Amino acid sequence: MAELGSPQETIQVLQKHDFHFQKKYGQNFLIDPHVLNKIIDAADVGRDDFVLEIGPGIGTMTQYLAERAGRVLAVEIDHNLIPILRETLAEYDNVEVRQGDILKEDIAAIAREYNGGKPIKVVANLPYYITTPIIMGLFESHVPLANVTVMVQKEVAERMRAKPGTKDYGALSLAVQYYAEPYLAANVPPNCFIPRPNVGSAVVRLTCLARPPVEVADERLMFRLIRASFNQRRKTLQNGLANSGELDFSKEEIGQAIQAVGLPPDIRGEKLGLAEFAALADALTTPV
Ligand code: SAM
Repeated sequence: MAELGSPQETIQVLQKHDFHFQKKYGQNFLIDPHVLNKIIDAADVGRDDFVLEIGPGIGTMTQYLAERAGRVLAVEIDHNLIPILRETLAEYDNVEVRQGDILKEDIAAIAREYNGGKPIKVVANLPYYITTPIIMGLFESHVPLANVTVMVQKEVAERMRAKPGTKDYGALSLAVQYYAEPYLAANVPPNCFIPRPNVGSAVVRLTCLARPPVEVADERLMFRLIRASFNQRRKTLQNGLANSGELDFSKEEIGQAIQAVGLPPDIRGEKLGLAEFAALADALTTPV
């Protein structure tokens, strides 16, 4: 069995199986042991852990995970990679490979089946074309999660960590920070992958919070307000929310709610933190 993680071994496996990269699946395989170790260290994987890996590729990171975790389930969409994974992971009896689309898997059911419903760890070098749906899908479907350690586009990592009033701050920052505490574990240049992506990458660990940092009566309304205010970033909060097709409040109702939570009438949405969006949602739920 090949020990993966170097460019030579990866190329050998790819040639042996006559594998052709599929751009539509965001296939950029890791070829740097230093980065692989950093990901596994950041995920803090131990023998008691069940790990879900999204998109194992040829199984490089899966081998590293299998060495440290109790059990690993790796879900890969590309049928052509399944026979390769059977071979590269043959020696690990704590790894299972499943062909499937992660966006269609019931991950809460996976946590129940493989980990007795206890919090699971998710590790992935994500396909960048579906980073946000994967991460938000994990959070919003209330999968029991300990942490999620992912390679993402550098710019996405910055957005996840951004604070109010900065250029990267937006709906993704608020959504991620409602569920988790983000930590930047590493910046990763394009030459650590084959083929090289044309963007910089970063490893982020999202440590899931036991409970959200703010309380809000209507969570869905809060996220609709967040989305609406960032969809119209250049407008004031009041105009952005009043013009949004997603919401059904008059300009006056919004103005009153903004005033009730003690914000200036001409404030922009990008200045608000989670606490202010929660207060605004509450004010609109029980108008004064
Ligand atoms: N983990 C490998 C590595 O680090 O070398 C491969 C990472 S590559 C960036 C992303 C992987 O996710 C590819 O193997 C791709 O086929 C797979 N993938 C893409 N879309 C997927 C989906 N919807 N569900 C499951 N896997 C997917």
